[in-house]
Amino acid sequence: MVRSMKGSSAGSCGLVIQAGCAPSQHRRVARPQGAPSAGRDHDGLVSTHPEHGGSHRLPDCDVAIVGAGIAGLAAARHLTTAGFNVRVFEAGAAVGGRVRSESIDGITVDIGFQLINPAYPEAQRMLDFDDLSLRPFVAGVLLRESEGKASLIADPMRHPADVVSTALHVPGSRLQQIRFVAEILRLARMNPRALEQRPDLTAREALSRFGKISDDLLAAFLSGVLFDDSLTTSRRFVDLVLRSFVRGTPAVPATGMQRIPDQLARGLDIALNTRVRAVTPSTVATESETVHARAIIVACDPRTAATLIPGLAIGELRSGTTWWHLADSPGSALTNGRPVLVIDPRRTGPLVNSVVLSNAAPAYAPDGRALIASTALGAGQFDDSDVRRHLSYLHGIDTSRWDVVAVHRLDLTVPAMPAGTPLRKPVVLDNGLFVAGDHRDTPSLQGALVSGRRVAAAVQHALA
Ligand SMILES: Cc1cc2nc3c(=O)[nH]c(=O)nc-3n(C[C@H](O)[C@H](O)[C@H](O)COP(=O)(O)OP(=O)(O)OC[C@H]3O[C@@H](n4cnc5c(N)ncnc54)[C@H](O)[C@@H]3O)c2cc1C
Repeated sequence: MVRSMKGSSAGSCGLVIQAGCAPSQHRRVARPQGAPSAGRDHDGLVSTHPEHGGSHRLPDCDVAIVGAGIAGLAAARHLTTAGFNVRVFEAGAAVGGRVRSESIDGITVDIGFQLINPAYPEAQRMLDFDDLSLRPFVAGVLLRESEGKASLIADPMRHPADVVSTALHVPGSRLQQIRFVAEILRLARMNPRALEQRPDLTAREALSRFGKISDDLLAAFLSGVLFDDSLTTSRRFVDLVLRSFVRGTPAVPATGMQRIPDQLARGLDIALNTRVRAVTPSTVATESETVHARAIIVACDPRTAATLIPGLAIGELRSGTTWWHLADSPGSALTNGRPVLVIDPRRTGPLVNSVVLSNAAPAYAPDGRALIASTALGAGQFDDSDVRRHLSYLHGIDTSRWDVVAVHRLDLTVPAMPAGTPLRKPVVLDNGLFVAGDHRDTPSLQGALVSGRRVAAAVQHALA
């Protein structure tokens, strides 16, 4: 059922939407005084796209955004702050897109294990980290080299107590180690713009000069970060990723990744449970109505964006599976009680990494039990006994009695970014539509936030 309620002034967003048996929630924010109103430059009239009959009618709002993932929310924040009347349409029951958490029997699990790096420049601009109450992980990895041997390699600056372990266990010759440290220090200091100017290669080619450090450490670590086993990802993007790891310590909000989109969504006008079926440069059609706006931003995942915008080129998409387990032993008995990513350079099983998440953020599992997130590449069927065998190997403990809390098979984690892909793609299309999302920038939270800022600037320019 749809109710439509005209706003108090022409061009204001006065719709209240209810969608069938799953009622959409609709929040409104008042337009600041003096802010541009919908249709201002056209005496309140906007030409609709010819596909919609070329008729003239008052726009319902300045900007309609399809998708309340990180990119759509960022765009909505920028435009709302600039005084535009913005409405966001979200197909899901909550904001966040690929950054969602769910609660299962009082335990919080993120829908796919992921982290935020507080060194992301755009996250620093957009997010209130104190409000997120970030819980950091160890700035390093635990390398599982054999049944009996696990070696901690951590940044000596952030973990000085681990300097001996790190010095003893970093793989490679002395020359490779010196080269690698020099490169890391260079990346940390370099301006991201300068990094982007470096010749592009695959990550594998670029990292090969570090020999065993690349083969035995970086390849295993990065495959889980990039969802890319082959390391064909652009070295420019990998340089940015490594830079952020050197400059910031990855973390999760104390009560789940969902806190990030929830924070971005505060005060925005968002219709949940509202799937957009079609768009033109001036309309958004949901199942129950057509909303007119002066600008339309498609901020969906790349697959849906390509459906809504025929001809939009999207590349390969990566996939992954995350298992969430509760251990039968306390977190202090696992990975020395520390929140450190365990990786297996020999890849003796399906998992690319595993971490005792509750060692960083105990509130995820409030009953004090240890909650473990473990990830594999691909979203196919995995044999549970293979997963458990690998978990036992990684954690050096019998995991046969660990309880499965959830398994998330995600056929989209991030868009692939092979060498040669531009780090930035256009957010204004020839047909007059605007588009945002990690597929326009880098495949990360940072990229999604940047795409939101870029598209907002483009819309502001177009509507000026
Ligand atoms: C398992 C996993 C691990 C990750 N790990 C990391 C990490 O550690 N660090 C990092 O920086 N990044 C990580 N990422 C990537 C990061 O989460 C994404 O790059 C980012 O969230 C993408 O945001 P987006 O807004 O571009 O797209 P999305 O999150 O896909 O948002 C699109 C939104 O559009 C909505 N939508 C789609 N179709 C419609 C429609 N027809 N009508 C209305 N709404 C629609 C969707 O419901 C969704 O809310 C990870 C991702 C996954 C899945």
